[in-house]
Amino acid sequence: MLNFTVGPVMSYEAIREIGKEQVPYFRTPEFSEVMLENERLVAQFANAPKGSRVAFMTGSGTASMETVVMNVLNRNDKAIVVNGGSFGERFEELCTLHAIPHHTIKLDYGHALTEKHLEQLNGQDFTAFVVNMHETSTGVLYDMPMISRFCKKYGLLLVVDAISAFMADPFDMEALQADVMITGSQKALACPPGISLIVLSPRALERVEQNHSVCMYLDLKLALKDGERGQTPFTPAVGILLQINRRLRDINANGGIDSEVQRMHMLAEDFRQKIHDMPLEIFNESPSNAVTCLHPLRNNAYDIFTILKDEYDIWICPNGGELRNKVFRVGHLGALTPDDNTTLVNAMKDMIKRGLL
Ligand SMILES: *Cc1c(COP(=O)(O)O)cnc(C)c1O
Repeated sequence: MLNFTVGPVMSYEAIREIGKEQVPYFRTPEFSEVMLENERLVAQFANAPKGSRVAFMTGSGTASMETVVMNVLNRNDKAIVVNGGSFGERFEELCTLHAIPHHTIKLDYGHALTEKHLEQLNGQDFTAFVVNMHETSTGVLYDMPMISRFCKKYGLLLVVDAISAFMADPFDMEALQADVMITGSQKALACPPGISLIVLSPRALERVEQNHSVCMYLDLKLALKDGERGQTPFTPAVGILLQINRRLRDINANGGIDSEVQRMHMLAEDFRQKIHDMPLEIFNESPSNAVTCLHPLRNNAYDIFTILKDEYDIWICPNGGELRNKVFRVGHLGALTPDDNTTLVNAMKDMIKRGLL
């Protein structure tokens, strides 16, 4: 099986080895050491400002999105939410569910956020800006420096879902003055799904402290307090946290976050170059390194996904909803190589010959 979806993605051998071990008991100094190192390395890779903290939540990425909406925002906020696809819509739904006043910038699928969208808003009315740095459903990477300038100008709290962007595209929390960054274990971390994590700036931490807790399992006050000694309030996905530790250490030993981002960039470029004369169109503006979102010119996108899966044992990522028949995505996250790109491209060439692509 060759997996080009956007999560879960292909894991490295060393990570899979850990997955086959017995899961250890975790209320131990040894596990606390692992967790403190996880926190240190994530903060280092995100270039989080001094005094930031990292919380590890057991749950997929959405658990951390909801944790942030519940613990960092409140009913006195007025948030700007960017909705350019299914993950932006999720933030909008979470804000509605938790009664966080918000204004939504709705983008057409595949389109970038521009200065024009921001100019129309009087930033002074708002308190927070909530955005998925990479809208994974359409492949659009938003212009974070532009968003950051807007937030700095009006003093807005900047909440960034970088679940598919962290370690794939450059992200510098300090330079952007981002207050919250969220990511998940099954994207660029290339571990099994089940852990998501939240980096909080000192300003975000202050908000958590001041807000009333509204949920026990996803309470950041508890998570941060226990995290000080490398522990979690409840039994976490221990095995995945050990795998994350190995992955973070490996990245650190292999040139750090910059070389990992560079590797993703190289893989994405390699794939795009190899398909340039195929009957495929890049669907969106501002593509990320994480995903190539493609519109096939001749055949149905969902059928192409099905044939690659059933006849070639290669998984690309189908889209849902309105885009189901129109686009598919090829992910570049995880343990993939240029040779893997070639294998996919050869399968696609074969499908072209058969009139199926
Ligand atoms: C994958 C992803 C999520 C989280 O999805 P889960 O299925 O809950 O892990 C959220 N936002 C973005 C941008 C994503 O790519």
